[in-house]
Amino acid sequence: MQTINRLDSLRDNIAALRAENKRIALVPTMGALHAGHMALVEAAKKSADAVVVSIFVNPTQFGPNEDLDAYPRTLESDSAMLVDAVVDVLWAPHAATVYPQGFVTKIQVGGPSEGYDGAARPGHFDGVALVVAKLFNQVQPDVALFGEKDFQQLAVIRQMAKDLDFGLEIMGIPIVRDADGLALSSRNSYLSANERQAALALPRALEKAAGNIRAGGDISSITQAASVGMLAAGFGRVDYFALVDAVTLEPLLVYDGRPARLLAAAKIGKTRLIDNLAI
Ligand code: AMP
Repeated sequence: MQTINRLDSLRDNIAALRAENKRIALVPTMGALHAGHMALVEAAKKSADAVVVSIFVNPTQFGPNEDLDAYPRTLESDSAMLVDAVVDVLWAPHAATVYPQGFVTKIQVGGPSEGYDGAARPGHFDGVALVVAKLFNQVQPDVALFGEKDFQQLAVIRQMAKDLDFGLEIMGIPIVRDADGLALSSRNSYLSANERQAALALPRALEKAAGNIRAGGDISSITQAASVGMLAAGFGRVDYFALVDAVTLEPLLVYDGRPARLLAAAKIGKTRLIDNLAI
C-alpha cells in the first residue's frame, strides 16, 4: 500500500493506475476505522481493480461546538487494517493541503440536505459536499462508496454528483452493526459502558417503529412514542425520529408502500448518535 499525503504524488499514482487501465474505487473516511469502513473497502475491491481509501478529518463539516478536536485519530492502526485488506493507496492529506491559505470556495446542496442532520448541524452537509467534491477531483475515481449509516449524507452526495456532472458511480453499502444491534461508528468510542448499553434503545426503537409502521399504525404517534421511549431509556435529547421518502428524504406522514426510511439522531451523554432503517 502506498501512503500518500502530497497531491502531486497522488496524481502520479493515479496516472500510473490509469495507464494500466485500472478501474479505480474511492472510499472516503475520517479514519478511526472499524468493520463498517472495512465493508466499504471489501465492496470497493469487488467493484474495481484498485482501491484508494482517504482518511481526512474534515474541519469544514464540523460546527463550532462539535467534536473536531476530540474526534479519534488512529492513523497507525487504520493503516495496518488497510494493509491487511490489501488496499492500493491510502490518501491521508494534511488540512493545509486540502484547504490551503486563501481557500474560499463553498458548495451548497439543497434538496436532500434540508432537515434532519441538515437542520441539527447547520453547514454540515455543505462541508461534506465540499470535501467530497475535492476528493472526487483529486482521485478521479470510477466509483465511490459510502455507507447507508449516514443515509442523508449518501443522498446529498448522490445529488451533488449528479448536479455537478461528476460522471462516476456512487455505491451505497448497508449498515454494519455490532452483534447487539448498535450501528458501528467511530463515535461509539466516546460512550461509557452504561451509555453503550442505553444506546441500544436507538436501534431497538427503529425496529419497533418499523414493525408498527408496516402494521399500518399512525406515523406521527409511532415516531413520537419512539422518541419518548428513547428519552426514558437514557438519551438526553432526540434531534429527530422521522419516516422519509428513501430517495428525496421528504417527510412521509402516511406510509404508502414506496421505499421509505426511518431516520433518527439522538444524544446520549456527550455523544450524538445517528441510525436509520429501511421500511
Ligand atoms: P466516517 O469515517 O464516519 O466519515 O465514515 C466513512 C464512511 O464509512 C461513510 O460513508 C460512512 O457512512 C461509512 N460508515 C461508517 N459507519 C458505518 C457502518 N456502521 N456501516 C456501514 N458504513 C459505515
